Amino acid sequence: GKPRVAIVYGGKSAEYEVSLQTAYSVINAINKEKYEVIPVHITNAGRWLEGKPVAGHLEYKEQLLLDENRVATSSNEWLTPSTITSAKSKPDVVFPLLHGPNGEDGTVQGLFELLDVAYVGSGVSGSAVAMDKVLMKDIFKAHNIPQVTYMSVTKYEWHQDQHGVMDAIHSAIGFPCFVKPANLGSSIGISKSNHADDLMKSMKLAFLYDEKVVIEAAVDAREIEMGVIGNDAIEVSVAGEIIADSSFYDYEAKYKDGHTSLIIPAKLAEKTLTEVQTLAMKAFKALNCSGLSRVDCFVRKSDQKVFVNEVNTMPGFTPHSMFPLLWKNTGLEYSALIDRLIRLGIERHQERS
Ligand code: ADP
Ligand code: MG
Ligand code: MG
Repeated sequence: GKPRVAIVYGGKSAEYEVSLQTAYSVINAINKEKYEVIPVHITNAGRWLEGKPVAGHLEYKEQLLLDENRVATSSNEWLTPSTITSAKSKPDVVFPLLHGPNGEDGTVQGLFELLDVAYVGSGVSGSAVAMDKVLMKDIFKAHNIPQVTYMSVTKYEWHQDQHGVMDAIHSAIGFPCFVKPANLGSSIGISKSNHADDLMKSMKLAFLYDEKVVIEAAVDAREIEMGVIGNDAIEVSVAGEIIADSSFYDYEAKYKDGHTSLIIPAKLAEKTLTEVQTLAMKAFKALNCSGLSRVDCFVRKSDQKVFVNEVNTMPGFTPHSMFPLLWKNTGLEYSALIDRLIRLGIERHQERS
């Protein structure tokens, strides 16, 4: 029969709603002549619920809120430890539409590895490293990938000697600087410190979310993003620019209001475009990514110098998100992009087994 694609969405995360919206779009766009589409809803409480295959068009996203009470235990059999080795109820490939911790940080990818099932996107190491801003930056450094000056501080170090840490930030980074929890996304817990006076507040805020924070020099820069897809042979999309109508591209700007515009393709000098695209592919490879990633760069306004900001291994994926729009502008429509990513996931699994 047709390959069975499990679309996994929801999750115990701040991005639950976004994930549901994405799943709705993906399930409607996926070629159902070619694939059997199985929705797998991870509830806010963390329960995995598998639904019946979706054959037609969904009218609204709430149809994906599978009801705990209606689901027979047999329907999510492939996820229970006793059936890890049974090929019977396993999907052929999983498309995890999950963002942030437990979704794009290698944990769910590890589960799929144990289940020996193909999945879309980066493996355990790529996902884990890209989710941890400190590990990510340390790897960029090892690969001579240009980035802003940064340092990291653990909560333990902070509590040992707050004044020592503040002094170190002062001399190594200076102001203005950005303070970020190492392991989140969506700008949560991130703040900008313009002066030494703000720093204490920024540090405390970031430590609410993580045991480790990264402090980096702020640059006055344009925000340029690209999509990268592929496994061994990779391709980069056109570049897009984010213009946020707030002091920085924060959570509100990302999800709440309509004040952010995406300019695709970004207006860049030929030389700068080549530079960011080369850098995007280099960053993708350095982090051992596969399948897809969105690579976010800064282009400093004063001198056009380029820096990599971060790699997102499961970027926003609604039809209105940057990643699909970048590919649309590169000649790959939403449905074709989904198909391509599924095939890349299957290929990667076949190559490794
Ligand atoms: P997240 O993973 O949550 O998206 P980012 O590191 O991308 O976190 O930071 C969120 C936003 O904060 C960026 O899109 C940018 O607007 C701003 N920002 C982050 N770091 C810097 C920096 N060093 N200089 C200038 N702006 C920054
Ligand atoms: Mg991010
Ligand atoms: Mg970002």
